[in-house]
Amino acid sequence: MNSMLTLLFSGIVACCAHSAGDSTSRLLLVSFDGFRADYLETYKLPHLQEFIEDGVLVKEVTNAFITKTFPNHYTIVTGLYEESHGIVANDMYDVDAKKKFSQFNDSDPFWWNEAVPIWVTNQRRGNGVSAAAMWPGTDVKINNTTPQFFMKYNFSVTFEERVEKIVAWLNSSNPVVNFATLYWEEPDASGHKYGPDDTENMRKVLEEVDNHIGFLTDKLKALGLWDTLNIIITSDHGMASCSPKKLIILDKCIGRNNYTLIDRSPVAAVLPRQNEKYVYNLLKKCDDHLKVYLKEEIPERFHYRHNKRIQPIILVADEGWTIVQNESLSKLGDHGYDNALPSMHPFLAARGPAFHRGYKQSTINNVDIYPMMCHILGLTPQPHNGTFSNTKCLLADQWCINLPEAIGIVIGAFLILTTLTCIIITSKNRVVSPRPFSRLQLQYDDDDPLIG
Ligand SMILES: [Zn+2]
Repeated sequence: MNSMLTLLFSGIVACCAHSAGDSTSRLLLVSFDGFRADYLETYKLPHLQEFIEDGVLVKEVTNAFITKTFPNHYTIVTGLYEESHGIVANDMYDVDAKKKFSQFNDSDPFWWNEAVPIWVTNQRRGNGVSAAAMWPGTDVKINNTTPQFFMKYNFSVTFEERVEKIVAWLNSSNPVVNFATLYWEEPDASGHKYGPDDTENMRKVLEEVDNHIGFLTDKLKALGLWDTLNIIITSDHGMASCSPKKLIILDKCIGRNNYTLIDRSPVAAVLPRQNEKYVYNLLKKCDDHLKVYLKEEIPERFHYRHNKRIQPIILVADEGWTIVQNESLSKLGDHGYDNALPSMHPFLAARGPAFHRGYKQSTINNVDIYPMMCHILGLTPQPHNGTFSNTKCLLADQWCINLPEAIGIVIGAFLILTTLTCIIITSKNRVVSPRPFSRLQLQYDDDDPLIG
């Protein structure tokens, strides 16, 4: 109740005092790829914990389907579901343009131009420029614009080198960098290699990630940027354990000449070469751990239907299962599964003048991050699928109240009112109708003992 009242009160004060969404606000958006939400509870991460204590934490972020890297990084910076921003997988094929997209062939603006990411909107506004240390899409001329400062993607550039670059850009005053991104490949790479349940190896990589956060913090403090900069640390998706015993082997069900596999596992995108219904019927009977959808049957909740880059048949493996044609399994962890699964969810932590301190919230959607970032930077958002009010409780300049707190306040107020009413009624009865004094009459033969 105390923290709730503090939050309420500080919200009202901050709301009336100033707006965080002003033109001088600056924001650094950081992603550690594949950082599953519950790693925060399983492992000791002192630098990240210190960051959270000084700011806010969203324990689980519901990400977009499919829960893959490129699609979700683009969702975070556009606030759009994948069907709307057009990066619908890490591997794509466009039938009309006859073009292919992969993680190693991603620099054609054609794939990215269906949306306008926040770094482009920020630069168009003209109050400052954007900088990027390797966020997917930042080295591509999207809508004819790259961030003014960016690095060509190269996984062999160390985290320290990326940080040195981004803090140097943030530290320069001409031009002012007011929006920046930073991306790191871990703990995703180790999650795939060892599987998320290999606590010994995952502990090592998460300690490394935590030291990276310490390194970033120290750099920002040394340059005097720590107190004025808003920082969001989040991720694109989680990780599930895979096993060589959980394989869905397509070759057992259908000949390879019947279809082209555009994207593989755990969500496979199938382009039929034969009659679509024939291919669909063979796949439908293939495996109990495989859901098979015609494009028009894909569940509404996935928001994954209305884009021509989504192939005519989509296969979705159950958690932990891997779709193969006939290959052996090369990894012990994977992601991409149903976005309702907690194992697919990342977290979000944030600190800085725009955020509350010491506040924790159970969930938001990752499409909500975009309108929140636009608010912090004072930008007018592009059309998006997010809900700004879902993030209000995180922000220092917003008045917010969530449902459990509202119920608590109503019950509390009711109890206080009831108690007060009882006290008033009782005291009134005593004052208003005093009993007239009368001498106690004892009967001479009343000699019964008082206590029997
Ligand atoms: Zn991955």
